[in-house]
Amino acid sequence: MISKALVVGGGVGGMSAALALVRRGVEVELVDADPQWRAYGAGISVTGLSLRAFDDLGILDEVRQRGFVGAGIRLRGIDGTPMFETPPVPDAAPPVARSGGIMRPVLHEIMSRRTREAGVEVTLGVRPTGFQQSDGAVEATFSDGRSESYELVVAADGIFSETRASLFPDAPAPQFTGQGCWRIVAERPAEVDRPEMFLGGPVKLGFNPVSADRMYAFILEHVPDNPWFAPEEQLAHVAELLAPFGGYVPSVRAGLGLDSLVNYRPLEWVLLQGPWHQGRIVLIGDAVHATTPHMASGAGMAVEDGLVLAEELAANDDVAAALDAFTARRFERARMVVENSVRIGEIEMSGGNQMDANAMLGDTMHKLQQPY
Ligand SMILES: Cc1cc2nc3c(=O)[nH]c(=O)nc-3n(C[C@H](O)[C@H](O)[C@H](O)COP(=O)(O)OP(=O)(O)OC[C@H]3O[C@@H](n4cnc5c(N)ncnc54)[C@H](O)[C@@H]3O)c2cc1C
Repeated sequence: MISKALVVGGGVGGMSAALALVRRGVEVELVDADPQWRAYGAGISVTGLSLRAFDDLGILDEVRQRGFVGAGIRLRGIDGTPMFETPPVPDAAPPVARSGGIMRPVLHEIMSRRTREAGVEVTLGVRPTGFQQSDGAVEATFSDGRSESYELVVAADGIFSETRASLFPDAPAPQFTGQGCWRIVAERPAEVDRPEMFLGGPVKLGFNPVSADRMYAFILEHVPDNPWFAPEEQLAHVAELLAPFGGYVPSVRAGLGLDSLVNYRPLEWVLLQGPWHQGRIVLIGDAVHATTPHMASGAGMAVEDGLVLAEELAANDDVAAALDAFTARRFERARMVVENSVRIGEIEMSGGNQMDANAMLGDTMHKLQQPY
């Protein structure tokens, strides 16, 4: 097993790798380019695979306490009438059979605190400026002028990864899909006790509890020209997108304001065909498999990456063999999530058969419940 590693990027993927490596006795340093190490204020859904990964990482209890963990899903018509809900899940069901949500800054606070408590040395406002590889070591130089030698570098620097660009200059750039995702936070009515989707509207609308009294909404809009929305226009735009929906949606709409934390992101994806490493530098998370949110599993996949990487390093004394084994275990799973998510978005944009999209979603989620 290696004894010293650098993690580049302190998002969910980087922090998961850091925690999993430290647990196996590795000395870990983590650098993040953001001096404040912020996480923007949107809610995220945590599917069964994410909850299982949080459990394996040892943070599920706190996620349960400060986020929301329930089970199943409810579908509603455009007027809010419940149309379908999955059968109740037994209390004893494992995390992978559950679903939930959490505010991203809350998840970040849990993970970043655990990362520091575990003894990871965290340096903020710093990015690597170069890597020099020699037998058994990577010499990294940093934007603060420092240089340091490691046995492994784990690059978890997100969809626009600078490490990917420098190691694999011919790798494809992230591609815009044609959809944009709006997210807002709102008070949670008691009836919203699980993830919900409204079907049949002009946009895809869903709600997911993120705590005992809050929920977040996501709206997927078809925006082929990839427009820019000025911050001062965003609340009015969201109000317009919510207007066709009934049930509790009009009261969510009436409550829109600064507290709604409106967040907009154009949807982009990237999948690095492989290899995912060069020498002793390995890429994980969105840096190699960024997906659209149609499976709500990107964060869980990044956490799984960190866990699997540490497992393979512990199982193989040869680092090259461990990194090959890591990619071999992760590639097909990541490909399935990215390609099927993009495909579902295409069906939505083309007005194609929603039953096909739902079948693909159900089948993929079922496969993702298998061990990682
Ligand atoms: C609109 C939208 C909705 C989503 N909803 C969900 C959801 O509901 N559920 C879910 O599971 N997933 C969701 N995802 C996906 C999820 O957000 C990502 O898959 C996940 O955040 C990836 O984690 P990561 O650690 O790989 O990258 P990131 O979270 O992007 O973290 C990268 C980190 O690297 C740092 N960094 C960047 N460049 C450098 C550098 N050069 N040097 C040092 N540090 C650097 C950044 O500051 C950042 O902290 C969604 C994504 C989008 C776009």
